[in-house]
Amino acid sequence: MSHTATTENKASVAQNIGRIARKQSNQSACGTDLAEPTWDFDRIPGYGPGASARDIIPLNAPTQGTLPAEYREASDEELHQRIQAAKDTLQDKLVILGHFYQRDEVVQLADYVGDSFQLAKAALAHPDAEAIVFCGVHFMAETADMLSNPNQHVILPNLAAGCSMADMANIDQVEDAWEQLVEIYGDEADAEGRVPLVPVTYMNSSAAIKAFCGRNGGIVCTSSNASTVLEWAFERGQRVIFFPDQHLGRNTAKAMGISLEDMPLWRPNLPLGGNTEDALERAKVILWNGFCSVHKRFTVKQIEQAREQYPDVRVIVHPECPMDVVDAADESGSTDYIRKAVEAAPAGSTIAIGTEINLVQRLAAEYPQHTIFCLDDVVCPCSTMYRIHPGYLAWVLEGLVAGEVRNRISVDAAVAEPARVALERMLAALPAVRS
Ligand code: SF4
Repeated sequence: MSHTATTENKASVAQNIGRIARKQSNQSACGTDLAEPTWDFDRIPGYGPGASARDIIPLNAPTQGTLPAEYREASDEELHQRIQAAKDTLQDKLVILGHFYQRDEVVQLADYVGDSFQLAKAALAHPDAEAIVFCGVHFMAETADMLSNPNQHVILPNLAAGCSMADMANIDQVEDAWEQLVEIYGDEADAEGRVPLVPVTYMNSSAAIKAFCGRNGGIVCTSSNASTVLEWAFERGQRVIFFPDQHLGRNTAKAMGISLEDMPLWRPNLPLGGNTEDALERAKVILWNGFCSVHKRFTVKQIEQAREQYPDVRVIVHPECPMDVVDAADESGSTDYIRKAVEAAPAGSTIAIGTEINLVQRLAAEYPQHTIFCLDDVVCPCSTMYRIHPGYLAWVLEGLVAGEVRNRISVDAAVAEPARVALERMLAALPAVRS
């Protein structure tokens, strides 16, 4: 395995996957069908090829109809030109948002590139844009819809672009868990006025879970502000239940000095989440049994191999990685943290990164003065984000040019209102960070 700069890390992830499929590269990908046009695997229920392919997709997960042949058959160049032409026509009526983990072919055409929260903020900064096209996944488009002006249309180019982690906590399971916990803890505040339990959800969750948190005195967090949000929650509550990413919850709480024994895992299909009443009484943070299939791929062994190959390597991983990986790394932080760390690194640095491959390869291309590589040598993009093929982007944009809004994501007011409360609590908890 070689991590030095190669043709591979100068090409886009999609181009690399194509080279792997044609056996023109020594690298490997986590799913050979990733090289197929996305509409081929969009017909199959599931999360598509890649690391999350084995996760159980909810029965009611949105699906995408077949894209018209003119988009499926168009070359990359033609799609690029058609998207650009639609942008030129729509001008300020349109904002295209591209997530850090999105394909290069799409990111090149985005007006803003960032994490889900930065992109929702970018949408807020354009109250006059009639259409916000969110090139990310479903929960991100929902958040943008809830934070944007009611007259704006938020569009997800491919409705099948969900998130396996967000789908790991559904509202019925969450309400059932809450009922069981309220039965144990009651609802009386302690002498300091702290309620027994505060729900906290990661941004990577459905609007329904955010609304649940809003209704029950809870809050939303991102990977950049999780510890500040947990502090907010502990000022108001004796315990926290953290949805849906156990790793972000565990890594954050551990760094705050909470012991692992006080962080039971809640398995939604088991009574009491698979815990004893005693363990739940002692708990400080109850971790929902969810994870990101992309970040779960990173291992301590990969870090050891990187250090063997480059003794001076700096290892930075995302906090969605398992705890042993975060502990073995030199640093951990959000995508924004990783970007800034690379930007500030002295020229000639060697940096191994544990996060989604599209972001890592883009950083490697943007900072050729460093040696930057992904800890996982198997090319494995977020397979749901990858579903935003330029063909879908061209289709929704040309729809807008023709006066037709395709794939609008609209959160019901009964859900959006309490979800906004939870989001606003986060904003109020973090004015200095997010202003
Ligand atoms: S990288 Fe993981 S958490 Fe992010 S959208 Fe993909 S599956 Fe979901």
